Amino acid sequence: MPIQDKALFTSPCDVRPDVRAFKAYVPGLTIDEIRERYGLSQVVKMASNENPLGVSPYVQECLRRHAATAFRYPQGGNPRLVDALARHHKVDKSCVVVGNGSDELIDLLMRARAVPGVHNIVCFKPCFGIYPVQSQLCGLELRQAPLNADFSFPFDALRALVDEKTALVFVTTPDNPSGYCPEAADVLALARALPAGCLLVVDEAYMDFVDDESTRSLLAAGTELPNVAFLRTFSKSMGLAGLRLGYAVLPPVLAEYLWRVRLPFSVNILAEEAGLAALEDDIFYAQTLHAVRAGRQQLMQGLEGLGCTVWPSSANFLMFGPPAGVAAAGFFEALLAKGYIIRPLKSYDLPHLLRVSVGTEEENTGFLKACREVLA
Ligand SMILES: *Cc1c(COP(=O)(O)O)cnc(C)c1O
Repeated sequence: MPIQDKALFTSPCDVRPDVRAFKAYVPGLTIDEIRERYGLSQVVKMASNENPLGVSPYVQECLRRHAATAFRYPQGGNPRLVDALARHHKVDKSCVVVGNGSDELIDLLMRARAVPGVHNIVCFKPCFGIYPVQSQLCGLELRQAPLNADFSFPFDALRALVDEKTALVFVTTPDNPSGYCPEAADVLALARALPAGCLLVVDEAYMDFVDDESTRSLLAAGTELPNVAFLRTFSKSMGLAGLRLGYAVLPPVLAEYLWRVRLPFSVNILAEEAGLAALEDDIFYAQTLHAVRAGRQQLMQGLEGLGCTVWPSSANFLMFGPPAGVAAAGFFEALLAKGYIIRPLKSYDLPHLLRVSVGTEEENTGFLKACREVLA
């Protein structure tokens, strides 16, 4: 049936044909769900790459102090936050756009640049779940280059999928779910190899956790490029996932368009204050990086000691496979019953693998003990 005919509505609840086939993004399970299902008193969530140290005390105090301002609309364009981010990254403030999580910026970039039914989006496979979901909602063809067997990036294969109708190329670095991180030089080479009309989106949600940002991040290196947009978030290293705050650093012309199409108050007044406070809180940030790096090492050694296959990670999570002969799904369920929520990677088409977020030292120790018991 031609799309026009399918678009003839017979019910007020009909939706676009492509929306009818829509599959929602699958988030990690929540603590309450598992506590109830298994009647547990204590449940540890290591599934969504949240900050193991929680919300910084300084930010909590700031939120309490500003609670009474929540009846007001935030200042249009969040100028104080934009200024602070521009200083933080040593870029001009005309390059910064803030959003309701970087998820909003992914959506805005697609909708502002790509014409439905005409343009395409290019990324690796597997990739962060929001890229396919949002491309589908925007009516855009998604082209994916399979990752190498070791989860490193086949940049040439990615480049080969790009044509004159490619609006955006997404690269996640460090990558989710593998934790792999390419050299900034390789990302730069990709940016230089793209056709004139194409924008490279470098999603640096986990860049804070790499060992050497200057060789891994083009943004940290201060490389100004006319065809690259960087995405960063307060959800991971800053511990603010629940407040929804992310931002893009991108060419000013494009930034200006995004500000025009963005819903006016998508970054709320408490998220703005929390973001400002988080940027000042160097101590909490340093503690977070320390906890993540030490915890990553602890989990890596512990899981390997149990016979698991663990991929090297530059992020705040590890991807791993259970020992030979143990099914990932069963291992995941057994851990749930013991009160440890991790992430099965079925929705990434990796049903044999699992992802665990780095927790506190105590949580990591408890998780490894639970794994040992399950495997015994
Ligand atoms: C967690 C994550 C984000 C951040 O999303 P927010 O909307 O800012 O919470 C972005 N990209 C990737 C790859 C992620 O894993």
